[in-house]
Amino acid sequence: MVTSQARAAAGIDEARLWQRHVAMARLGARSDGGVNRQALSDEDIAARRTLIGWAEARGFACAVDPIGNLFVRRAGTEPGLPPVLTGSHLDSQPTGGKFDGAYGVLAGFEVLEALEDLKLPTRRSIEAVAWTNEEGSRFQPGAMGSAAFVGRMQLPALLDHVDRAGVRLGDALQATLAATPDLARRGLGFDVAAYVEAHIEQGPLLEAERKVIGAVTGIQGSRWFAVEVKGEEAHAGTTPLKIRKDALKAAMSMIGALETLMQDDSDTVRFTVGRFEVSPNSPNTVPGQVFFTIDFRHPDPAVLSRLGDRIEAVCREHARGCAVTVTPTFDAPPIQFARDIVQAVGGAAARLGLPHMDIFSGAFHDAKFIAEIAPTGMIFVPCERGISHNPAENAKPSDLAAGARVLAEVLAELAEK
Ligand SMILES: [Zn+2]
Repeated sequence: MVTSQARAAAGIDEARLWQRHVAMARLGARSDGGVNRQALSDEDIAARRTLIGWAEARGFACAVDPIGNLFVRRAGTEPGLPPVLTGSHLDSQPTGGKFDGAYGVLAGFEVLEALEDLKLPTRRSIEAVAWTNEEGSRFQPGAMGSAAFVGRMQLPALLDHVDRAGVRLGDALQATLAATPDLARRGLGFDVAAYVEAHIEQGPLLEAERKVIGAVTGIQGSRWFAVEVKGEEAHAGTTPLKIRKDALKAAMSMIGALETLMQDDSDTVRFTVGRFEVSPNSPNTVPGQVFFTIDFRHPDPAVLSRLGDRIEAVCREHARGCAVTVTPTFDAPPIQFARDIVQAVGGAAARLGLPHMDIFSGAFHDAKFIAEIAPTGMIFVPCERGISHNPAENAKPSDLAAGARVLAEVLAELAEK
């Protein structure tokens, strides 16, 4: 058993995997070295065509489902069994990098090629998938392909979403599907034996700990809020401070108190006020209205409840005479990945002599949704200084290959089950 897995890892070709990243990064390349390949755009279509070209050259079957999720299949010896899936996404942020998403798809494809090169059969089929619109930058919400795949989002309800240029998602999807008319079609969703997604960490922990592999134990939970503070506009020169209802000062006081609430010596709490709008935003008028957002995340559901449930009360306590409305806008519990897969990732890394650690994911991934229908895990590799969603995003060819070797072992193992 260990022998066949180790053989799978031995087929990974670091130079080939790197060249695939270089080729993929040309599609939507930015002049600053980054990538702008938004979902269902011409660049996304070009990336899909490229992957299909590589797959067909190796004799792998390709198929697409109604939301554009693209599957590349290496058939197993028992092709009727539910397949083992691996993959990620090919779309990027507008100021994205070369590795976020693309790595998971290309590492998955590299495993298929490695198995093919080694003529190593697997019992179950293994499929590398590119999920549609993970980033959610052109069309909201993100992780649309994986969420629709598991039935968490309904495709008809998404079709009328428009991008900033007014293009309907339904039309962009139609154009994407029409660009590869010969591709086999599949229904949305099917039985999956297991799912393993490789991804750059998008954080600084692996690099800081000098580890090459992160065995991802889960994805932290999120609670998001919108806060509206209503005070009273007044003349800045004439209105005494005592009788003002200054929405900006109230909001500052709330955010200060929330900072104190979220204080955490272990630095595990993630608390962000990312949008802040003042009205009327005039130098000589006491601000009458403020809108701000709260993005609060933590791996522990108890902490998410305890601190998240305090947010509204803290805002009210610091309202300074203003009216305040706190509206929850998003609530996602933490996800725990399948123990077997987390252990398989750590075990494979150990056998391959790769420094590894368990790690929690701070960001969402398609794996968050697939975990609802199948045993799921993720493999992280380091990215330089943890920088991601940025043209400067970078990763080492040797680390990318190391992650693919671990992925090869884990997929080969899961495909025998
Ligand atoms: Zn990603």
